[in-house]
Amino acid sequence: MTELCGFGRRIRRLIIPVLAIFAGAAALRARTEPAHAAQAAGGSVVLALDPGHGGPLSTSDHLGAQYAPYSEKAMTLELAQRIEKELSVYDNVNVVLLRTADRPLSLAQRAADAQAAGADFLISLHFNASLQHLSYGTEVWTSAFGSNYSAGASFGRAVLEQTAKLGYYDRGVKTRIGSHGDYYGIIRESAARGIPSALIEHCYLDSSADRLSLGGAGDVEALAKADAAAIARYFHLRSSATGEDYTDYVRPAAVPAGAAGIPQDQTPPDVCRLELCGRDAAGQVICRLTARDTDSVYPVLYYFYSVNGVPTALLPFPRNGEAVVFTVSAPPGAEIVAAAVNSYDLVSVSRPVTVR
Ligand SMILES: [Zn+2]
Repeated sequence: MTELCGFGRRIRRLIIPVLAIFAGAAALRARTEPAHAAQAAGGSVVLALDPGHGGPLSTSDHLGAQYAPYSEKAMTLELAQRIEKELSVYDNVNVVLLRTADRPLSLAQRAADAQAAGADFLISLHFNASLQHLSYGTEVWTSAFGSNYSAGASFGRAVLEQTAKLGYYDRGVKTRIGSHGDYYGIIRESAARGIPSALIEHCYLDSSADRLSLGGAGDVEALAKADAAAIARYFHLRSSATGEDYTDYVRPAAVPAGAAGIPQDQTPPDVCRLELCGRDAAGQVICRLTARDTDSVYPVLYYFYSVNGVPTALLPFPRNGEAVVFTVSAPPGAEIVAAAVNSYDLVSVSRPVTVR
């Protein structure tokens, strides 16, 4: 948590900060995914789709995020049903919906039902919201441990490839460790039953940026198509009805995780430096922000800045680079501050710079 000097308010953690610490790219290596047992035997892969939340109580467990006109528990069920329909054209997949009505269901029961169905993988479907209504984009959570991390992170990358095509910002694949292993219950309960899993937070229901994408009736359908496209590819599905065949799809590199799991980084970006580079021909002040988060699997996600204490929205930080150049309208004497936000919503703030 970081006090934003000059912004007059505190940007809080929007989601709990956990940041995987990696030794760097040298530690990453592609490896062959563990074969799904059923597919390896030439049979169908069994996928459990978990529509998040459900039930009548006015608790977040039951309702999920509620931002009119959006209701998370209804959207997750619609999404699951649409994904099931999209996948019905494929030959070698058996889809199991863990919830088919608006009813409460414990996370342990969902995982137990997936196990009873012989699930090879569990996909939990969710929509996001943030405390301060600033974030936007898609993120995928998975187990921090062993082969469950490898499979979940690789699948998560396949999902993010597809949701990014719809315009949703890629917030990465993340892990969170609690006192009993994986923090998120559906991931922990699945792992306890030997089922790899991924929890997809598709977009922010309270975000004006994501709402632009979610503005029409077809948006859940578009997300269902994106999820189904990722599933079809990742699980090497084929369809005799349509001729589609993803058996040769190369999965995103699977990163191994040791028994200790992916450690959590609870520190904001370690470099956040603002320089003023004069004025352009139109008289705008040219600003250059350098930001780095060296102990992060994911680079800096967003930046924002303020002129005399008035902050911008979160802006996408360049994914392949360590600096962004922007121009602002500011008179001599104005104070400019910039900030960098990492994938766990932790914020580093630059020193204020005064315009000459
Ligand atoms: Zn949810």
